[in-house]
Amino acid sequence: MSIPFVDLKAQYESIKNEIDSAIESVVNQTSFIGGSVVRDFEAAFAEYVGVKNCVGVANGTDAIEIALRALGVGPGDEVIVPALTWISTAGAVNSVGGEPIFVDVLEDQRTINPALIEEKITQKTKAIIPVHFYGLPAQMNEIMTLARKHNLKVLEDSAQAHGAQIDGNLVGTIGDIATFSFYPGKNLGAYGDAGAIVTNNDDSANTCRMVSNHGQLTKHDHQIIGRNSRLDTMQAAILKAKLPYLDEWTEARIRVASWYNEQLRDGVTKPTIPLNMKHVFHLYVIQSPKRDDLMNSLKQENIGCALHYPTPLPHLKSYAYQNHKIGDFPVAEKLCSEILSLPIFPELSEEDLDRVCDIINEFNSI
Ligand SMILES: *Cc1c(COP(=O)(O)O)cnc(C)c1O
Repeated sequence: MSIPFVDLKAQYESIKNEIDSAIESVVNQTSFIGGSVVRDFEAAFAEYVGVKNCVGVANGTDAIEIALRALGVGPGDEVIVPALTWISTAGAVNSVGGEPIFVDVLEDQRTINPALIEEKITQKTKAIIPVHFYGLPAQMNEIMTLARKHNLKVLEDSAQAHGAQIDGNLVGTIGDIATFSFYPGKNLGAYGDAGAIVTNNDDSANTCRMVSNHGQLTKHDHQIIGRNSRLDTMQAAILKAKLPYLDEWTEARIRVASWYNEQLRDGVTKPTIPLNMKHVFHLYVIQSPKRDDLMNSLKQENIGCALHYPTPLPHLKSYAYQNHKIGDFPVAEKLCSEILSLPIFPELSEEDLDRVCDIINEFNSI
């Protein structure tokens, strides 16, 4: 029997009626762009996160790019980003004409190392993008202190961390602006591409709304150069139907993670969670010095596993122009050779979890 890395069908089956009627209602109204469904979801998501404004956009990458524009980041500006994250965090900086400046990550938490940020700050630095990586909040207290000291903006890339908390505050409420992705496999996932920007700053929210809709707030009044990056109505309807279940699904993810924590024996490093944080386990990532062999053993048993991500961003071909050398980001480099993401989704059964753990424990006992 194979165990998938993620099973989106199981979740659909569990709320099929609600999803089907949400889709049907959009089709019946033939209101495919904008409309009350989009506004309702934006309001519901803003309330969930605990912020004043939510602007739905086409995907989580556009969300970062548009949020950077709202923060005033443009050509020539530098933005600090972690060396280990999904490509979008850095790519969006390039897309607005800025330069991503990579900083190594913490070995235990795998989020940006705040102690290494200050040495990368220059006259050109405009912002920091901490990523709440795998579902664990970045070290926001230190990051906000540094940002205030150097007058930098903070954009929280919360694509992997819907509902995660630090000191009781939800991610997305701490920095100047925050972005989310609703890519299907994310903790709150659409049935296609979707994303959102949240902020308590009304001006930033207005700019984001204008940029994402051809530079206009009202029809034909194009105040700035914008683009088309709207949240699709069909996706908004699906997200609105799914949002009430998010906390339940998060708790189920946390149960899966606890099960792994209990069952996995020596030979692998398990995720670290600081006491003041709530990890929402978008991914459950272990480390093994024999990662490649372990991954092969799991694949032979038809168990889905994956690498998030195989290469530190500064060592990708797309960033070769920055001329980094191996050894410049020692922690990210080590993590990339040892990390392995195990199956995790709310519906994963204890039986399947036991099987994954047995194979890993067996592998480590020989
Ligand atoms: C998924 C993701 C994004 C981008 O989201 P898309 O909706 O796929 O464009 C950005 N940052 C991180 C950390 C992500 O995991």
